[in-house]
Amino acid sequence: MSIRSPFECFTWKSDIFSCDSNDIDTFYARLSEQVSRLGLQERKLGETGDFPVNFYQSPAQKSGQPSLLISAGFHGEEAAGPWGMLYFLNELEPELFQQINLSLLPLVNPTGFKRGHRFNQLGENPNRGFVLDNGRGKSNDDTSAEGKVLLEHSQLLQAASKDGILTCHEDVLLTDTYIYSFEANQNPGSFSKHLRDTLGQFFPIAQDGEIDDCPVKDGIIFNHFDLSFEAFLVRLGAGVGVCSETPGLQSFDQRILANAAIMRRFIELTLEKQ
Ligand SMILES: [Zn+2]
Repeated sequence: MSIRSPFECFTWKSDIFSCDSNDIDTFYARLSEQVSRLGLQERKLGETGDFPVNFYQSPAQKSGQPSLLISAGFHGEEAAGPWGMLYFLNELEPELFQQINLSLLPLVNPTGFKRGHRFNQLGENPNRGFVLDNGRGKSNDDTSAEGKVLLEHSQLLQAASKDGILTCHEDVLLTDTYIYSFEANQNPGSFSKHLRDTLGQFFPIAQDGEIDDCPVKDGIIFNHFDLSFEAFLVRLGAGVGVCSETPGLQSFDQRILANAAIMRRFIELTLEKQ
């Protein structure tokens, strides 16, 4: 088990984006270019600090298509998730929206991201306190400001993640990669394995053992139901759930590329299932 300070600051330089990993102004400016280019619909779900918690959807969601949600930036120091999403969006063609309803939460914890530390500016963990009570989202003492905003929009997020949720995290203390995955099976299926292998093209896969008190086998922590956002959406009926963990001790740009790759693969695998 790893001990980490929630206020330790981590920043890296990106050659791909020519800025620091916590350059939030550049991040929002580049995101806004892609939102316009792709015609994404922006919805402000709420606020945290001086920043919005924004949610984006592909235009004209269609009932016959799979609905996928990709989220990033819950933990402020795990910066390759949001930048990876930006890289993914840069490469995306809007024709994809003829096949899939895509929803995005690119940066859930902007105050942590700007400072390069894990928790938000209030010292809360944005990925805890997602309680499901009688089919409805409920907060508890651990729920963060961002978590409350997301819980207020449970129905929207439930519909957006009907066929799957991918949430992109990092483990800043590791050189190896792994995933958490959720499937309606006893054991990880090909969906989990393909996504693990996508990260395995960039980094060594973690050895069997325990990470944060969870058993990891073949790079996968399987069906671990806690009070995280991803477990919450799976409880609400998301077809599959994956939480990717790229290793913070590896090159920042490689981590950005790995995050973009797993987002692409997540969509491809969903389309292949259709
Ligand atoms: Zn995280």
